[in-house]
Amino acid sequence: MSEKKSLFVLAGDGIGPEVMTEVYRLIEWLERRRDISFEVSEGLVGGAAIEAEGAPISDETMKKALASDAVLLGAVGGPKWDDLPFEQKPERGLLRLRKEMKLFANLRPAVVFPSLAEASTLKPEGVSGLDIMIVRELTGGVYFGTPRGIETLPNGERRGVNTQVYTTGEIQRVARVAFELAQKRSGRVCSADKANVMESGVLWREEVQRLHDEAFTDVELSHMYADNCAMQLVRNPRQFDVIVTDNLFGDILSDEAAMLTGSLGMLPSASLGAADENGRRLALYEPVHGSAPDIAGRGLANPLACILSFAMCLRYSFDMTEVADLIEAAVTEVLDGGLRTADIMQDGKARVSTRVMGEALTSTLNNMIN
Ligand code: NAD
Repeated sequence: MSEKKSLFVLAGDGIGPEVMTEVYRLIEWLERRRDISFEVSEGLVGGAAIEAEGAPISDETMKKALASDAVLLGAVGGPKWDDLPFEQKPERGLLRLRKEMKLFANLRPAVVFPSLAEASTLKPEGVSGLDIMIVRELTGGVYFGTPRGIETLPNGERRGVNTQVYTTGEIQRVARVAFELAQKRSGRVCSADKANVMESGVLWREEVQRLHDEAFTDVELSHMYADNCAMQLVRNPRQFDVIVTDNLFGDILSDEAAMLTGSLGMLPSASLGAADENGRRLALYEPVHGSAPDIAGRGLANPLACILSFAMCLRYSFDMTEVADLIEAAVTEVLDGGLRTADIMQDGKARVSTRVMGEALTSTLNNMIN
């Protein structure tokens, strides 16, 4: 039998531990009913780590994250820690993870489950069945480029500077992730840039095209200006399969795409690092939502974003495509059956708690395999 995959769980703060409990329910089910098990260990991050260990993430926790096959994170933050200096805030734990794990590719799927199409701000017929993947470069570009800063000019005016900068290697490694994803999906990549006005955009376009021509001719590649891409996402989002773009445009386009789906409580994400010589890739999976202090501890949180993040982990880190497919199909079935947490509640549907949603998922899985 092959070695068990190691999963390091950092539930974090607020609704993080609540939604993670429902992932544990699913992990127990997989063990019991599918004979699939993982080496699961737990650590603290964010406010929980500040309280118990004096820092938003300890060196020990960081070491374990770097040694595990995948990290699954709930959420961090909360009003209790809002007044701490920037360097000590819960979010620093997450930033340190991203930085030290060198997670350069952020995967943000935007999927509209047919029974939730009404929740989108767009017409349901335009988004029903939508399934796109935005791949955002996460460690380069204008958020990190130097020179940066605010300076005072001789005339007393102030000037803010940030630098958009990319190397060929940075562009090619994130484009490779996008092409490889497209090969497992419907085989199309759209690269978004501003090659019309930015030199870094010209380089971006050339390098994505070069990698395509050298290694991914089976994938259909198109290029689009990022502003047009923003328009096309609301005009006709289903034209896209995989979109690859830089850090700044990806920040905006992935949030725009998220809104097509209607609820934060349904959105998973993955962040991937470079593969080592054995093909092992550091990876962090987390729901897009935060710690939702306004509803924490009340059984109101939707656990599906965290559960779908775990499904992404099975798909991309553990090579368990069938199990990931099964979980995603079960989520569709539970929603089709009319169960809704408060955030996705619709007229005529049954409002359920975090726990009941998690239980419904495992009982649906029972029915699906029988
Ligand atoms: P948030 O995502 O926590 O909440 C925004 C709104 O969406 C709230 O009304 C919340 O109740 C609702 N919501 C979020 N997730 C939900 C779910 N699973 N089910 C049902 N409703 C859900 O964002 P915020 O309120 O801006 O931030 C709250 C805290 O979370 C802050 O401390 C912030 O810094 C932190 N935060 C952390 C992350 C992260 O851990 N990755 C991301 C964003 C915000």
